[in-house]
Amino acid sequence: MSAPDLYGTPQVMVFKDGKVGAFSMQFDDSMETQAEFAIPHMNERGLVGTFFVNPDKDRYRTHRETWEVICPRFGHELGNHTMRHEGAKDYEEADHEIGECARHIWKLYPNRSKLRPFMRGGGTTWNTSREQMQELMQKYFLFRAPRRVGISDGNDTGDPAAFAKEALEEGKWVLVGFHGVGGQWISCSEERFVKLCDYLAANKDELWVGTTGDVYRYVQERDAVSKVALTDATDTGFKLAIECDESKVDTYGAPFAELYDQPLTVSVRVPESWRRFCVEQDGEAETYETIEVDGERHARFDVRPNVDAALVRLVGPD
Ligand SMILES: [Zn+2]
Repeated sequence: MSAPDLYGTPQVMVFKDGKVGAFSMQFDDSMETQAEFAIPHMNERGLVGTFFVNPDKDRYRTHRETWEVICPRFGHELGNHTMRHEGAKDYEEADHEIGECARHIWKLYPNRSKLRPFMRGGGTTWNTSREQMQELMQKYFLFRAPRRVGISDGNDTGDPAAFAKEALEEGKWVLVGFHGVGGQWISCSEERFVKLCDYLAANKDELWVGTTGDVYRYVQERDAVSKVALTDATDTGFKLAIECDESKVDTYGAPFAELYDQPLTVSVRVPESWRRFCVEQDGEAETYETIEVDGERHARFDVRPNVDAALVRLVGPD
């Protein structure tokens, strides 16, 4: 068999790790009940979410350690909800409210993309034009996430996992939003929240529970893929590079790979004898096990687009 025949055509998976759907949980206003109830329940189950915080609010300061230490450590994302959730009387104040919040969050995630979700806060007044707001979003690498469904006991008392099931059944990305969890305003009861978390934990293999930023980057990159190249094939490995068309995403005038750093999952058919393999890219290495897909052996692994090719090597049984 010649080397090219050893491998199938590489496919970029619709969602990370080949999962069927994606689900993102958002939490607004850095509320105490989120720090006290929601985050511990999520951490216990290895679930992550996006917390839209207001760093210049007392309710933020009460749980500073949760937002600034626990959230980054457990893989949660902080989203920009402005410093005080009070709008702005002019452009200068808007720049402060949004810019300070952005800088505050960037400092807590020194190794992550600066691209962050943004919500300017319900019920606030901004004396800024649409163009000025657009300018600030560009300046601070902010994006507006797709529409979400609010979950609270007031608007929905049905199955709290219904939206997660929809993501799985329809193979799409569903976003939900919370305010209070087990108390405070627009609250969802703790029991219902736990029920949702249990459902998500039980369906982890099929449903990607990702932060808004991670799923957003994945989807943006995935939809911009212009080329997937498998080269340098030998019977013990190959190189794989993914190219995205930069004109299809908003790069905010920054280098593509600086903002779009979410790896894409690729699946490639490999020889039947392959079991373990190693993927090296950008100075990092990860070892994976091959899987069986429709009676064929596949290597499924993560590759960052628009950086140097990943090096995939068969690892001996040792
Ligand atoms: Zn809010």
